[in-house]
Amino acid sequence: MSRALIVEDEPAIAELIAIHLRHAGHEVSLAATVSEARVAVDAVLPDLVVLDWMLPGGTGLELARHWRAGARTRELPILMLTARSDETDMIAGLDAGADDYLVKPFSPGELMARIRAVLRRRAPTTLAEGQLVVGPLRLDLAARRVEVDGRPVRLGPTEFRLLQHLMAYPERVHSRAQLLDRVWGDHVFIEERTVDVHVKRLRETLAPVDAGRMIETVRGVGYRLTRERPAD
Ligand code: CA
Repeated sequence: MSRALIVEDEPAIAELIAIHLRHAGHEVSLAATVSEARVAVDAVLPDLVVLDWMLPGGTGLELARHWRAGARTRELPILMLTARSDETDMIAGLDAGADDYLVKPFSPGELMARIRAVLRRRAPTTLAEGQLVVGPLRLDLAARRVEVDGRPVRLGPTEFRLLQHLMAYPERVHSRAQLLDRVWGDHVFIEERTVDVHVKRLRETLAPVDAGRMIETVRGVGYRLTRERPAD
């Protein structure tokens, strides 16, 4: 069982989310303002926060940034709720530290699927002797080797670093700007389109071993590596 904190000022939506989380076996607490949310997390560190964007006394973005900056709360899984479907806003949410976002109105099915994905991300990626393992993918950092179902695949240096980063954070949505930051480092002179080029190459290399579809395009935002190989 995990502890979920719902930060939402609209009682009907908060209660709806609470019902579904409780039904799935989570222990639920509620906060309706920025200050209530801060007090709640200071008191008990939850396993998951469902965080509304617009709140009395501030925004969910500020809260996400605040928690990401704290040593105790840095790894807190955050699912952002937003009434905005503007992709620049979604990117702002991810850049503030949300793991994922959901646009209102959403169905209970969508809500629970996103929550499961955010919680799965917490399940530790096996990191034994410098190896990352995600589903059928195995990446050996020291040997700079990648295997899919035990079969070696050859990747260029950029694709290797890209896959390494995606495998370190499976199920997490990465914006192109985040990938440029983390994979390319200083990206002042690199266009975001470059990310698409290398993702395409990585997918093409993984496609013959049936793992290309594990790298999902999140429309208008960026990319996500699924933890399991998607079914046909
Ligand atoms: Ca609100």
